[in-house]
This record gives sequence, structure tokens and C-alpha cells, in this order.
Amino acid sequence: MKERSYSIGGYSANVADLLRWDRLHYWHPFTQMAEYEPLIFERAEGCELIDIEGRRYIDGVSSLWCNIHGHRHPRIDAAIAEQLERVAHVTALGASNPTTIVLAKKLVDLAPTGLEHVFFSDDGATAVEVALKMAFQYWRQSSPPRPEKTLYVAFAEAYHGDTLGAVSVGGVERFHGMFRPLLFECRRLPTPDSYRTPSGVRGEEVCQFYLDQLEAVLRAEHLRIAAVVIEPLIQAAAGMIFHPPGFLRGVRELTRRYDVFLIADEVAVGMGRTGRLFACEHEGVVPDFLCLAKGLTGGYLPLAATLTTARVWQAFLGTYAAGKTFFHGHTYTGNPLGAAAALATLRVFEEEKTLDRLPAKAARLAAHLERIRQLPHVGDVRQKGLIAAVELVRDPETKEPYPWEEKRGFLACRRARDFGVWLRPLGNVIVIMPPLSIELDQIDQIGKAVEEGVRFATSW
Ligand SMILES: *Cc1c(COP(=O)(O)O)cnc(C)c1O
Repeated sequence: MKERSYSIGGYSANVADLLRWDRLHYWHPFTQMAEYEPLIFERAEGCELIDIEGRRYIDGVSSLWCNIHGHRHPRIDAAIAEQLERVAHVTALGASNPTTIVLAKKLVDLAPTGLEHVFFSDDGATAVEVALKMAFQYWRQSSPPRPEKTLYVAFAEAYHGDTLGAVSVGGVERFHGMFRPLLFECRRLPTPDSYRTPSGVRGEEVCQFYLDQLEAVLRAEHLRIAAVVIEPLIQAAAGMIFHPPGFLRGVRELTRRYDVFLIADEVAVGMGRTGRLFACEHEGVVPDFLCLAKGLTGGYLPLAATLTTARVWQAFLGTYAAGKTFFHGHTYTGNPLGAAAALATLRVFEEEKTLDRLPAKAARLAAHLERIRQLPHVGDVRQKGLIAAVELVRDPETKEPYPWEEKRGFLACRRARDFGVWLRPLGNVIVIMPPLSIELDQIDQIGKAVEEGVRFATSW
């Protein structure tokens, strides 16, 4: 098997070469390379990944929350091939192309009413950077100008990407703490966690408790605050922390009352994940900025979008000499191949009635989660649409976490691989986030694999 030779782009390599070069030359993100055991996926079909030794795994986390309609979807493959016959890339700086224009129009049609202008970039982090900088520049150019509005409000455990602006509003200590000296000022609110709730606060009061904290900051400092940045409904990278129902709506009401922008980072929760195309729809919220990436191209190509309102757009208009231009952009902004993949992804939502078919799949997953909830050391299971999490704890009574160094989540996912399911955890949280095109029997296989993984990882 190890001698099997591949021709890759005209170069040849056998399996042993690939395993060696992967460790030696390819520095992987969020990966301790000293402990890295190569796992090399060579191809995929629908919801299955196939490694270089021919083993098949269900893609239980949608290749890091990106894949929506499965891998090698004929409609998306064809759209990219068709675009290649026209052009792969043209610049968006002072120029355009039909595919990206139509995508902008389509996103505006589908997004919550009032988001009328689309600024493209490449990744989730850049989509957030764009929103942060646009909000900042808006307040300098608004009439009257409010240049003192330079502060951001964000939540503990928030994750908005890894560029420095996104890290400044990020709050995952283990990822971001190191970089504090490089970051700009941000007001940090407690994570609106509906599992680990504040002591003495119960039920309906939990939402109001967190909203009161936001209001206190806004009341004191709204004249200096440019925007509140939030992951709507679910703080994904934090470990799929669910906000109390009604929280997002409350945040929208407060930000409106205090004239502070709301930046909704739907990089993880957008594109149908939660059962609606955009998570904000669940609470009837229209943010001032909506950030999309990950699933936007169905998990095919890097493309991101930051949508905003006419109010923001207007403040940037004027003669060139007036100096109101948004001097920001990335070389591959609005790339037509990415736009073609995104348009095809939206089309498949219509053709396959993806969202209509989701409740049955979510219900099937829920049944497995209820069974898994009964296992010892399962502190919580949570789910919205096809985002689910199983949190392992040392003591379910006190919710005391396992020490992160014990890698319980990792061990559970490692075990799940023996049952043909590939998962990637977040600390002690097992994340289940398959493509929306997953079939019911594949959900059953995931449920079984997670159960085995939990049993294994909590057996000592
Ligand atoms: C993944 C993620 C990002 C960062 O996206 P990249 O494409 O990795 O830069 C930003 N925000 C949220 C909520 C995410 O889940």
C-alpha cells in the first residue's frame, strides 16, 4: 500500500513520501505538529471522505463546517467548470464580472431585508475585518461625524477568525491570550451561556441577566462604542455554546436604542446550518453587518461576504477627493470561481429543497443525542438544525470540565474514526456538523460512532 504511487500535477509521490512530506514540510493550522499523525484525504464522494489508503469516513464536521451539499456535487462541479471556460479571476478593484454581480444580487435578495450592499473577501476572518473597519470609518464620515466611536463590544469565548482585528474581538483565551499586546481595545461581556448559567439565575431570567450586562456597558459608553460583534445564537469555536433564546433579539433592540452597530458573524451558523438560511432569521433580526464565509461556496472555494445597509453605504459616497473611499480589499476579492460555486450552492438549496428536508434529519440526530445524553460523563447535548454538540464533563452534577490536557474530546473522535466517522472536537466538546445533504442512515452511523467514542473517552 505504502508503495502506491500517485501522479500529482505531473509530479509523482508514493504514500510513504506523502506521509513523510506532510509531517516535514506542511505546517498545519491549529495543530501541534510534534504530535501530528498524518491523516490524508485524497478524494470524496457526497458525504464521505476517502483517505490515501482507501478508507472511507463520513464527513461528520463538513470539512470544518464548510460543506453544505456534499462533496463533488454535480451542480457545483459543473458551475466551476463552466466558469473556468470563461475566466478564473479578474480583479474587483474598479472592475467587475457577471458571476460575482449576480451573486451579490442573489445574496441581497435572500438576506434579511435592508442588507443591500455586498463587500466580498476570502475568509471568515476577512469578512469580520471588513465589518470592523467599515463600522469604524462610518462613524468618522457620518453626519455629524462621531470619531470618538472607536470601541468594540464582544463576548468572552468569542471567535471571529485569526487576523489581528478578528483576534482583538475574539475571546478564546487559549488561542488569543498570547497576542494581547498586539490588539486594540475591546469591552468584553460574559459568554451568554445557557448551559453554565450564572449562579442563582434560573430559566427565563438567564437571557435578561446577560442583556442587563450589555445594557450597563452601552449606557455607560455608547458614545464611544462603534459596534457590538456577535456570533448569532451559537458561539461555535467556543465549544458550540448556545445563547438563551431571545438574546439576539434583545441585543438588536439595545444596539438600536443606543445607536451602536450590530455585526452578526454568521460564518459558522449561516448558510442553512441552523434550519434557516441565516441564523438571524430565527429571531427576526436585521444586523447592520452580516458576515458570511465557510458554507458560502458549499465548502468548495474560499469566498466571504460582508453585507451591509444603505445607511452605511451612503456614508462612503462622495467625490474621490472627499476621501470617503473604503481603502480595503484583498487581491482575490470577488473571485468569479468562488462566486460560481456560491451561486450554484444557493441554487441547490432551491432545487433540492435542502431546508424543507432538514427537520427530519435534525429529528433523527436528536433521537441519537437523547440516547447519548444518558451516558455517564455527558454533561450536556445541544442541537439546532444540523449543528450539534456533546459536552463531556468530569462531573455532570457540578458541570466540572475535564482538564483540557486530557484530550477527552480528541480521544472520542479518534475512536469514532474506527466506526467510519471523521469528527474534530473542540476541547471536551464533540461537534457533530455533517453536510446538510446527509442521509438518515448516515446520521445513524454518526450517532453510533459518537456513542462509542464517548464510552471510550470516558472509561477512565
Ligand atoms: C471559522 C470562523 C471564522 C473564521 O473564518 P476563517 O475562514 O477561518 O477565517 C470567523 N467567525 C466564525 C464564527 C467562525 O466560525
